[in-house]
Amino acid sequence: MNTQILQFNTDNIRLAAKEILDGGIVAFPTETVYGLGANALNPDAVKKIYIAKGRPSDNPLICHISDKAQIEKFAYLTPFAEKIIDVFMPGPITVILQKKPVVPDIVTGGLQTVGIRMPAHKDALSFIKACGVPICAPSANTSTKPSPTAATHVFDDLNGKIRYILDGGRCGVGLESTIVDCVNGTLLRQGGVPKEDIERIVGTLNPPPQSDIPLCPGMKYKHYSPNAEVLLAIPTADMRSRIAAEYDKRQGKTIILTLGGSYGNRNVCSVGSTVEEYAHNLFDCFRRLDDEGYECIICEGVDGSGVGAALMNRLTKASGGFVF
Ligand code: AMP
Ligand code: MG
Repeated sequence: MNTQILQFNTDNIRLAAKEILDGGIVAFPTETVYGLGANALNPDAVKKIYIAKGRPSDNPLICHISDKAQIEKFAYLTPFAEKIIDVFMPGPITVILQKKPVVPDIVTGGLQTVGIRMPAHKDALSFIKACGVPICAPSANTSTKPSPTAATHVFDDLNGKIRYILDGGRCGVGLESTIVDCVNGTLLRQGGVPKEDIERIVGTLNPPPQSDIPLCPGMKYKHYSPNAEVLLAIPTADMRSRIAAEYDKRQGKTIILTLGGSYGNRNVCSVGSTVEEYAHNLFDCFRRLDDEGYECIICEGVDGSGVGAALMNRLTKASGGFVF
């Protein structure tokens, strides 16, 4: 199959929507990362997402909508969920609700709940609206690779496996959505909307299940990770001198991801000057440094407030627990 990158215009939106309604899959931009979408009401189409990504079938997908009024067609609202939806949708947040029978099991990985999100992204919304059906989508990368934040990232992973990639430029946030399980008030994943902001509206959330976090250094579980080894430095006062010392011990081609630090003549990659810019650039840097043949990426840690919490979560996972 020939994969085409399409610019956003009326004709191409129509072409992509037709592909969806014909049972195909299409990659599209959102404010978090690129999604790989299918008609959520067509199980045969949804199956193609799992195959293209190499994704385990018990890992549920998020249903993307273009209008909040659609939620009740697919899920049962609760007062708790409505508070979150009123304040944060559209935006980088996913709410988990009890699903209605119309949502196929393949979308939810067999769960009785469904994840729903309305992106704050003009092009994403016009694409979803043109389809006229909910679009279920995970990130449009090969499973375990860093999520795609540009159309070229999707192309690198899925060339030949999908017909169309809608190109909306670089994703603004650059990290995935925050996921709140509204059935039991649990924060399932840190993401684009900071936990503190949500707690200001609904009170304290239950913490993510423990299994989400690598428990000790060297644990096998890795996600969002480049091919290079990733090391994460805890943000202490002497972090930069500890990073320099760690760098000097490494034999292979090594680079430091930094928020404006200076490290003499060591290789550095600047990720910007704010935590938001670090988040926006992280996955793009991982992919680029892999292409440049780096074997080890040492990442500066950040304070875990605001989007910093989601960033530290992704860095921790990418490091597989190699935190120093
Ligand atoms: P991705 O957008 O690639 O991160 O994939 C979607 C993620 O949303 C899954 O990996 C789950 O973590 C989460 N998710 C989607 N639906 C549900 C659900 N019903 N219950 C819990 N988590 C969900
Ligand atoms: Mg993903």
